[in-house]
Amino acid sequence: MKQFVLLGIILSVAGAVRAEQPKVAIDKLEGKTILVFTPHPDDELFGAGGTIALLNRHHNRVLIVIYTNDNKGSYDLEMTSERLARIRKSEEEAAEAALGTPKENIEWMGYDDGMLEYAPQPKLVEEATAIVRRVRPDVLLSIDPGELYERWHKTDHRMAAFNTIDAVRAAEFWLYFPNQLLEQQLQPFRVPEMYFFYPTQQETNTWVNIDGVMDLKLEAGSKHVSQFEPAVHKYRPDWDPQELARTKSEMRALQPKKDGHFVEAFRYATGFNQM
Ligand SMILES: [Zn+2]
Repeated sequence: MKQFVLLGIILSVAGAVRAEQPKVAIDKLEGKTILVFTPHPDDELFGAGGTIALLNRHHNRVLIVIYTNDNKGSYDLEMTSERLARIRKSEEEAAEAALGTPKENIEWMGYDDGMLEYAPQPKLVEEATAIVRRVRPDVLLSIDPGELYERWHKTDHRMAAFNTIDAVRAAEFWLYFPNQLLEQQLQPFRVPEMYFFYPTQQETNTWVNIDGVMDLKLEAGSKHVSQFEPAVHKYRPDWDPQELARTKSEMRALQPKKDGHFVEAFRYATGFNQM
Protein backbone atom coordinates (compact mmCIF):
# COMPACT_ATOMS: atom_id res chain seq x y z
CA MET A 1 0.00 0.00 0.00
CA LYS A 2 3.06 2.27 -0.27
CA GLN A 3 1.70 3.95 -3.37
CA PHE A 4 -1.33 5.09 -1.37
CA VAL A 5 0.87 6.63 1.29
CA LEU A 6 2.77 8.52 -1.41
CA LEU A 7 -0.50 9.54 -3.03
CA GLY A 8 -1.73 10.66 0.37
CA ILE A 9 1.26 12.93 0.86
CA ILE A 10 0.70 14.47 -2.58
CA LEU A 11 -3.03 14.88 -1.95
CA SER A 12 -2.60 16.34 1.51
CA VAL A 13 -0.09 18.88 0.24
CA ALA A 14 -2.44 19.71 -2.64
CA GLY A 15 -5.35 19.86 -0.18
CA ALA A 16 -3.47 22.32 1.97
CA VAL A 17 -3.31 24.84 -0.86
CA ARG A 18 -6.69 24.12 -2.43
CA ALA A 19 -9.80 24.89 -0.42
CA GLU A 20 -12.09 22.17 -1.69
CA GLN A 21 -15.46 23.50 -2.78
CA PRO A 22 -18.26 21.88 -4.78
CA LYS A 23 -18.69 22.82 -8.45
CA VAL A 24 -22.45 22.99 -7.90
CA ALA A 25 -23.61 24.03 -4.43
CA ILE A 26 -25.70 21.39 -2.68
CA ASP A 27 -28.73 23.68 -2.49
CA LYS A 28 -28.64 24.01 -6.30
CA LEU A 29 -28.51 20.28 -7.11
CA GLU A 30 -31.40 18.74 -9.04
CA GLY A 31 -32.18 15.17 -10.06
CA LYS A 32 -29.31 13.65 -8.07
CA THR A 33 -29.16 10.68 -5.71
CA ILE A 34 -28.28 11.65 -2.15
CA LEU A 35 -27.37 9.08 0.51
CA VAL A 36 -27.49 10.16 4.15
CA PHE A 37 -26.02 8.03 6.95
CA THR A 38 -27.07 8.96 10.48
CA PRO A 39 -26.32 7.29 13.82
CA HIS A 40 -29.76 7.99 15.30
CA PRO A 41 -33.13 9.03 13.92
CA ASP A 42 -32.77 12.82 14.40
CA ASP A 43 -29.04 13.55 13.90
CA GLU A 44 -29.54 14.02 10.18
CA LEU A 45 -32.33 16.46 11.05
CA PHE A 46 -30.34 18.53 13.53
CA GLY A 47 -27.19 18.43 11.39
CA ALA A 48 -28.64 18.66 7.89
CA GLY A 49 -32.46 18.78 8.00
CA GLY A 50 -32.73 22.10 6.19
CA THR A 51 -30.37 20.87 3.50
CA ILE A 52 -32.38 17.65 3.15
CA ALA A 53 -35.58 19.71 2.78
CA LEU A 54 -33.92 21.77 0.02
CA LEU A 55 -32.67 18.63 -1.75
CA ASN A 56 -36.16 17.13 -1.69
CA ARG A 57 -37.70 20.39 -2.86
CA HIS A 58 -35.31 20.38 -5.83
CA HIS A 59 -36.34 16.88 -6.95
CA ASN A 60 -33.34 14.93 -5.76
CA ARG A 61 -33.79 11.36 -4.49
CA VAL A 62 -32.82 11.42 -0.82
CA LEU A 63 -32.25 8.12 0.99
CA ILE A 64 -31.75 8.02 4.74
CA VAL A 65 -29.86 5.15 6.39
CA ILE A 66 -30.10 4.97 10.19
CA TYR A 67 -27.59 2.89 12.12
CA THR A 68 -29.50 2.46 15.37
CA ASN A 69 -33.13 2.14 16.39
CA ASP A 70 -32.68 4.69 19.21
CA ASN A 71 -34.40 2.42 21.70
CA LYS A 72 -32.80 3.49 25.00
CA GLY A 73 -33.19 7.23 25.56
CA SER A 74 -36.22 7.42 27.82
CA TYR A 75 -36.51 8.12 31.55
CA ASP A 76 -39.98 6.55 31.60
CA LEU A 77 -39.78 3.50 33.86
CA GLU A 78 -42.74 1.96 32.08
CA MET A 79 -41.13 2.22 28.65
CA THR A 80 -39.63 -0.84 26.96
CA SER A 81 -36.87 -0.93 24.33
CA GLU A 82 -39.19 -2.60 21.80
CA ARG A 83 -41.90 -0.01 22.27
CA LEU A 84 -39.45 2.88 22.17
CA ALA A 85 -37.98 1.57 18.89
CA ARG A 86 -41.49 1.56 17.37
CA ILE A 87 -42.18 5.07 18.64
CA ARG A 88 -38.85 6.40 17.39
CA LYS A 89 -39.46 4.81 13.97
CA SER A 90 -42.83 6.46 13.50
CA GLU A 91 -41.51 9.80 14.79
CA GLU A 92 -38.61 9.62 12.34
CA GLU A 93 -40.95 8.82 9.46
CA ALA A 94 -43.10 11.82 10.38
CA ALA A 95 -40.05 14.08 10.74
CA GLU A 96 -38.59 13.03 7.39
CA ALA A 97 -42.03 13.39 5.77
CA ALA A 98 -42.02 17.02 6.94
CA LEU A 99 -38.70 17.42 5.09
CA GLY A 100 -40.16 15.75 1.99
CA THR A 101 -38.54 12.30 2.33
CA PRO A 102 -41.00 9.41 1.79
CA LYS A 103 -40.81 6.59 4.31
CA GLU A 104 -39.84 4.08 1.59
CA ASN A 105 -36.58 6.04 1.35
CA ILE A 106 -35.66 5.32 4.99
CA GLU A 107 -33.55 2.25 5.72
CA TRP A 108 -32.93 0.98 9.25
CA MET A 109 -29.78 -0.99 10.01
CA GLY A 110 -31.39 -1.87 13.33
CA TYR A 111 -28.51 -1.74 15.82
CA ASP A 112 -29.35 -1.09 19.46
CA ASP A 113 -28.97 2.46 20.73
CA GLY A 114 -25.61 3.03 22.44
CA MET A 115 -24.22 -0.31 21.25
CA LEU A 116 -22.82 0.53 17.82
CA GLU A 117 -19.23 0.41 19.05
CA TYR A 118 -19.74 -3.11 20.30
CA ALA A 119 -21.32 -4.40 17.09
CA PRO A 120 -19.10 -6.73 15.03
CA GLN A 121 -17.07 -4.20 13.05
CA PRO A 122 -16.37 -6.24 9.90
CA LYS A 123 -20.13 -6.85 9.59
CA LEU A 124 -20.91 -3.18 10.20
CA VAL A 125 -18.55 -1.91 7.52
CA GLU A 126 -19.57 -4.65 5.10
CA GLU A 127 -23.24 -3.67 5.45
CA ALA A 128 -22.53 0.03 4.93
CA THR A 129 -20.28 -0.77 1.95
CA ALA A 130 -23.09 -2.75 0.31
CA ILE A 131 -25.46 0.19 0.78
CA VAL A 132 -22.99 2.59 -0.87
CA ARG A 133 -22.44 0.18 -3.79
CA ARG A 134 -26.18 -0.37 -4.19
CA VAL A 135 -27.32 3.27 -3.96
CA ARG A 136 -24.34 4.74 -5.88
CA PRO A 137 -24.94 8.26 -4.59
CA ASP A 138 -23.89 11.46 -6.34
CA VAL A 139 -23.54 12.98 -2.88
CA LEU A 140 -23.14 11.33 0.51
CA LEU A 141 -23.94 13.02 3.80
CA SER A 142 -22.69 11.62 7.09
CA ILE A 143 -21.51 12.56 10.54
CA ASP A 144 -18.00 14.00 10.44
CA PRO A 145 -15.12 11.68 11.37
CA GLY A 146 -12.78 14.72 11.23
CA GLU A 147 -10.04 15.34 8.71
CA LEU A 148 -6.90 16.46 10.54
CA TYR A 149 -8.03 15.14 13.90
CA GLU A 150 -10.54 12.57 15.01
CA ARG A 151 -13.79 14.25 15.95
CA TRP A 152 -14.63 13.10 19.48
CA HIS A 153 -18.34 12.47 19.23
CA LYS A 154 -20.44 10.67 21.80
CA THR A 155 -21.00 6.93 21.55
CA ASP A 156 -22.76 5.73 18.34
CA HIS A 157 -21.88 9.05 16.71
CA ARG A 158 -18.15 8.29 16.66
CA MET A 159 -18.69 4.74 15.42
CA ALA A 160 -21.12 5.84 12.72
CA ALA A 161 -18.69 8.57 11.64
CA PHE A 162 -15.74 6.21 11.24
CA ASN A 163 -17.71 3.30 9.90
CA THR A 164 -19.27 5.33 7.10
CA ILE A 165 -15.98 6.76 5.85
CA ASP A 166 -14.41 3.29 6.07
CA ALA A 167 -17.29 1.98 3.95
CA VAL A 168 -16.80 4.81 1.44
CA ARG A 169 -13.21 3.67 1.08
CA ALA A 170 -14.02 -0.03 0.88
CA ALA A 171 -16.73 0.59 -1.74
CA GLU A 172 -14.07 1.70 -4.25
CA PHE A 173 -12.04 -1.51 -4.13
CA TRP A 174 -13.88 -4.60 -5.21
CA LEU A 175 -11.59 -6.93 -3.26
CA TYR A 176 -13.19 -5.69 -0.06
CA PHE A 177 -16.18 -7.99 0.34
CA PRO A 178 -15.81 -9.47 -3.15
CA ASN A 179 -18.96 -11.53 -2.77
CA GLN A 180 -20.93 -8.32 -3.09
CA LEU A 181 -19.83 -8.30 -6.75
CA LEU A 182 -19.71 -12.04 -7.33
CA GLU A 183 -23.06 -12.88 -5.77
CA GLN A 184 -25.04 -9.63 -5.65
CA GLN A 185 -23.64 -7.90 -8.77
CA LEU A 186 -22.77 -4.82 -6.73
CA GLN A 187 -20.09 -3.02 -8.70
CA PRO A 188 -17.38 -1.07 -6.88
CA PHE A 189 -18.24 2.60 -6.54
CA ARG A 190 -16.37 5.81 -5.81
CA VAL A 191 -18.44 8.41 -3.93
CA PRO A 192 -17.88 11.72 -5.76
CA GLU A 193 -18.83 14.24 -3.07
CA MET A 194 -19.36 14.20 0.66
CA TYR A 195 -20.80 16.66 3.16
CA PHE A 196 -20.10 15.90 6.80
CA PHE A 197 -22.44 17.31 9.42
CA TYR A 198 -21.47 18.03 13.07
CA PRO A 199 -18.01 19.27 11.95
CA THR A 200 -15.62 21.15 14.20
CA GLN A 201 -15.60 24.90 13.71
CA GLN A 202 -12.01 24.71 12.45
CA GLU A 203 -12.84 22.19 9.74
CA THR A 204 -16.15 23.66 8.58
CA ASN A 205 -15.73 24.81 4.98
CA THR A 206 -19.31 24.97 3.65
CA TRP A 207 -22.49 26.60 4.88
CA VAL A 208 -25.95 26.09 3.45
CA ASN A 209 -28.50 28.89 3.81
CA ILE A 210 -31.68 27.32 5.20
CA ASP A 211 -33.74 30.49 5.77
CA GLY A 212 -36.39 29.28 3.32
CA VAL A 213 -36.90 25.93 5.08
CA MET A 214 -36.24 26.85 8.72
CA ASP A 215 -39.92 26.46 9.62
CA LEU A 216 -39.96 23.02 7.99
CA LYS A 217 -36.94 22.03 10.05
CA LEU A 218 -38.69 23.12 13.24
CA GLU A 219 -41.82 21.26 12.17
CA ALA A 220 -39.74 18.14 11.58
CA GLY A 221 -38.07 18.58 14.99
CA SER A 222 -41.48 18.74 16.64
CA LYS A 223 -42.22 15.21 15.39
CA HIS A 224 -39.57 13.80 17.72
CA VAL A 225 -41.99 14.04 20.64
CA SER A 226 -40.41 11.28 22.75
CA GLN A 227 -37.05 13.07 22.80
CA PHE A 228 -38.35 16.07 24.69
CA GLU A 229 -40.31 17.03 27.79
CA PRO A 230 -42.75 15.93 28.92
CA ALA A 231 -42.71 12.69 26.87
CA VAL A 232 -39.08 11.82 27.59
CA HIS A 233 -39.96 11.41 31.29
CA LYS A 234 -43.48 10.06 30.95
CA TYR A 235 -44.34 9.04 27.44
CA ARG A 236 -47.30 10.63 25.72
CA PRO A 237 -47.73 10.88 21.96
CA ASP A 238 -48.41 14.60 21.89
CA TRP A 239 -46.93 17.81 23.17
CA ASP A 240 -47.97 20.08 25.92
CA PRO A 241 -48.61 23.21 23.75
CA GLN A 242 -46.44 25.43 25.95
CA GLU A 243 -43.57 22.92 25.85
CA LEU A 244 -43.85 22.72 22.07
CA ALA A 245 -43.68 26.49 21.68
CA ARG A 246 -40.73 26.68 24.09
CA THR A 247 -38.86 23.82 22.37
CA LYS A 248 -39.37 25.33 18.91
CA SER A 249 -38.06 28.68 20.06
CA GLU A 250 -35.07 26.97 21.69
CA MET A 251 -34.36 25.08 18.45
CA ARG A 252 -34.60 28.32 16.48
CA ALA A 253 -32.21 30.04 18.88
CA LEU A 254 -29.73 27.14 18.69
CA GLN A 255 -29.65 27.04 14.89
CA PRO A 256 -26.30 28.50 13.75
CA LYS A 257 -26.36 31.79 11.88
CA LYS A 258 -23.92 33.29 9.43
CA ASP A 259 -24.20 36.82 8.04
CA GLY A 260 -27.68 37.07 9.52
CA HIS A 261 -28.97 33.86 7.87
CA PHE A 262 -29.84 30.48 9.32
CA VAL A 263 -27.24 28.01 8.10
CA GLU A 264 -26.16 24.40 8.37
CA ALA A 265 -22.41 23.85 8.59
CA PHE A 266 -20.54 21.07 6.81
CA ARG A 267 -17.07 19.84 6.04
CA TYR A 268 -17.13 19.24 2.31
CA ALA A 269 -14.75 16.62 0.88
CA THR A 270 -14.26 14.61 -2.28
CA GLY A 271 -12.27 11.75 -0.81
CA PHE A 272 -11.33 9.87 2.31
CA ASN A 273 -8.08 10.64 4.13
CA GLN A 274 -5.25 8.79 2.42
CA MET A 275 -2.95 8.82 5.41
ZN1 LIG B 1 -27.49 10.93 17.95
